[in-house]
Amino acid sequence: MAVRKTKHEMPEQPPKERVKNFKEVPYGYDKETAIEEAKRCLQCKNKPCIEGCPVEIDIPAFIACIAEGDFDKAAEVVKAKNSLPAVSGRVCPYESQCEGKCTLLKLGEPVAIGRLERFIADYERDKGVKDPKKVKSTGKKVAVVGAGPAGLTCAGDLAKMGHGVTVFEALHAPGGVLMYGIPEFRLPKDIVNAEVDYIKKLGVDVKYDIVVGKTITVDELFEEYDAVFIGTGAGLPRWLRIPGENLDGVYSANEFLTRVNLMKAYRFPEYDTPVKIGKIVATFGAGNVAMDCARTSLRLGAEKSYLIYRRSDVEMPARNEEIHHAKEEGVIFKLLTNPVEFIGDGEGLLTKVKVIKMKLGEPDDSGRRRPIPIPDSEYKIKIDTALVAIGQSPNPLVPQTVKGLKIEKWGNIKTDENGRTSIPGIFAGGDIATGAATVILAMGAGKRAARAIDKYIKSKKKYYP
Ligand SMILES: Cc1cc2nc3c(=O)[nH]c(=O)nc-3n(C[C@H](O)[C@H](O)[C@H](O)COP(=O)(O)OP(=O)(O)OC[C@H]3O[C@@H](n4cnc5c(N)ncnc54)[C@H](O)[C@@H]3O)c2cc1C
Repeated sequence: MAVRKTKHEMPEQPPKERVKNFKEVPYGYDKETAIEEAKRCLQCKNKPCIEGCPVEIDIPAFIACIAEGDFDKAAEVVKAKNSLPAVSGRVCPYESQCEGKCTLLKLGEPVAIGRLERFIADYERDKGVKDPKKVKSTGKKVAVVGAGPAGLTCAGDLAKMGHGVTVFEALHAPGGVLMYGIPEFRLPKDIVNAEVDYIKKLGVDVKYDIVVGKTITVDELFEEYDAVFIGTGAGLPRWLRIPGENLDGVYSANEFLTRVNLMKAYRFPEYDTPVKIGKIVATFGAGNVAMDCARTSLRLGAEKSYLIYRRSDVEMPARNEEIHHAKEEGVIFKLLTNPVEFIGDGEGLLTKVKVIKMKLGEPDDSGRRRPIPIPDSEYKIKIDTALVAIGQSPNPLVPQTVKGLKIEKWGNIKTDENGRTSIPGIFAGGDIATGAATVILAMGAGKRAARAIDKYIKSKKKYYP
């Protein structure tokens, strides 16, 4: 029988409806569609998709189980390698990873691996996730700093190996960006909580409201723990550095999204934290963070939501699906346009942004064509709120408070491919080591570091600060 060339569609809320609510946009596959999609998999002998998966899921095996209708077994195969499948099944950039390696690309669209991973994770959660088997304790203890995807994955894998793990998290909730950054309509928070609960059931203890570097230092952690993993992410906002950036009405993407997601500002006054939005919002940047800001502002009632980016659509770093959803929802893309000044009303309140038109020149160090301002092309746009989403840098607190820890140019902790830092016993991974990247890369780094930590603590060496 000929193989279907396209993925099965995943139904979703219509754009006009969904811009009025924070409910998740896609509904996910039903059982029949999941089985039909799974049957598209050719079960290639060389399994190229696995090479594209940073957490090494046996993709053909779990898809074969779905095709046979054995969803429990499929969940087992996925969970063997990935403790956060409902998260990665929603936000992973599959197109450039597992699906980017699928043999079916030669005929048309790849197997919808991401949608199938999401289906199986949701099936298992709806049914009631089985408690993991208890593992014999090794008597060793590891401290993990940061409860984002890197820290949680590292913690879960170490617990599966029998080590005692405590996660120290600065915020009052787990998940890192999954909780405070990515909006509810893309990643519902009860799903993040359910996956964190599973990691806790593996034996991981999570302590909240502890800012390592302030409340306790990494050196002090070694009084109780045999090794430390640092997964503190890249939460430091980058600014445009243009006049007027301190006007009232200019937010960093981080502050804006944290207010809305973690502090539930979209349900103010039921929740304490407000967020000011106005009628016209401009988001600067074109990555996933920018798409989240622009789409969130529409849901908060903005009449116009501009996305202003200095390069063209070809260079936009956001996932195609996010760009597609933003366009469907009415975000107005102003490409090849760069802000030069925020303008206020004389009393400190933002009222306009002055922008300049750009053209593309030769490729720069990033390989993308360099944006060049077009002389005398400035004009002003009336706005009430500006959201700056041009990138984040590594959180500096832990790197600055560990003596002798090697740091790289952009403030990230220097590690080898297994997360070893310049200090034996201290490991790091995720955005704090790579700079702002992706959920699955952070999870992959946590996984590799867990193996290296296991090897290190079994070697019986001990680091004494
Ligand atoms: C808005 C937004 C949207 C995104 N969308 C996507 C997407 O669609 N797909 C994708 O793959 N990636 C996306 N990303 C990127 C992705 O979320 C990150 O690459 C990933 O979360 C990094 O994981 P991490 O564990 O390294 O760090 P984080 O998720 O940042 O977690 C770090 C944790 O450490 C805690 N911490 C920091 N300092 C301390 C301290 N001193 N003591 C104790 N705890 C501390 C923080 O509170 C946080 O909980 C997005 C990022 C943002 C901001």
